Amino acid sequence: MQIKVLGSAAGGGFPQWNCSCRNCTLVRKGIFPGKVRTQAQIAVSADNRSWFLLGACPDLRAQIEVSPELHPRDGLRQSPIAGVVLSSGDLDHVLGLLLLRELQPLRVYATPSIQRLLREDNSMFAMLNRVSAQALWTDIIPAETFALASSAGESCGLKCEPLPLSSRYPAYTRRHRAAEFAPCEALLGLIIEDKSGNRFAYMPAMSQVDDGLLQVLESTDLLFFDGTFWQDDELIKIQGSGQTAGEMGHIPVSSERGSLHRLATLRRPRKIFIHINNTNPMLDESSAEFSEIQKAGWELAEDGWNIQL
Ligand SMILES: [Zn+2]
Repeated sequence: MQIKVLGSAAGGGFPQWNCSCRNCTLVRKGIFPGKVRTQAQIAVSADNRSWFLLGACPDLRAQIEVSPELHPRDGLRQSPIAGVVLSSGDLDHVLGLLLLRELQPLRVYATPSIQRLLREDNSMFAMLNRVSAQALWTDIIPAETFALASSAGESCGLKCEPLPLSSRYPAYTRRHRAAEFAPCEALLGLIIEDKSGNRFAYMPAMSQVDDGLLQVLESTDLLFFDGTFWQDDELIKIQGSGQTAGEMGHIPVSSERGSLHRLATLRRPRKIFIHINNTNPMLDESSAEFSEIQKAGWELAEDGWNIQL
């Protein structure tokens, strides 16, 4: 299968429009020792005919334009993008759906609760269903593997295993609605597998790692993992206030309970951090933090990467 990294930053991108942290400031001065990044977005295909997006981020329009694989091929109105798999209702993960509203048939996979959150509580998403041959919403049942199919129902050579990770719904969810939604349908990790058994995991928002999850990750060839924050109190240190990484649903990269340490025993998968916040010091490729992740066998996802499994 072909995997394309369309974007690799956390929400806000890098640089972030209203941020003047050290990293963002050095980018604007043109002297940052590292790469700029758009917001996290993965695309995957088994046949280079039908592509599936994992989430739909707010930078999607520009990301599609710089990716020839995703350009129209046949006819005046057409797209190789066959579907979108939503793993949560976070804005950074769903706003791009609104950019795909041009009456194109598209299958959208989401848990029933995320569908209710988007379609019943946020009227703008009705733009995806103005005509009958448009978004075809399809249920994801947590922990039940399903085949990825085009809106016409054609199997595309990939299957997806959705792992329930957290009961936390996005901050914009009204409290009484969150209480109505199924706790296991809030946030999923996605494992994508092709017909040859090649597997990769996409987990850009992880609050903890237990032994069961470690076993699952060891069964993959490639892991995209939450690289949002280096430290738990990163934003508080920079801004003087705010939430910890843990409070925002992210395990930090460093420290005893961080991902470098917790995932150190993984042997099989190639390990790549994605969803990297603009404040994270490991973005600076001259930093001690960048050296540390490299020594531990990790890479930082970059926009435009193509990976063949
Ligand atoms: Zn910044």
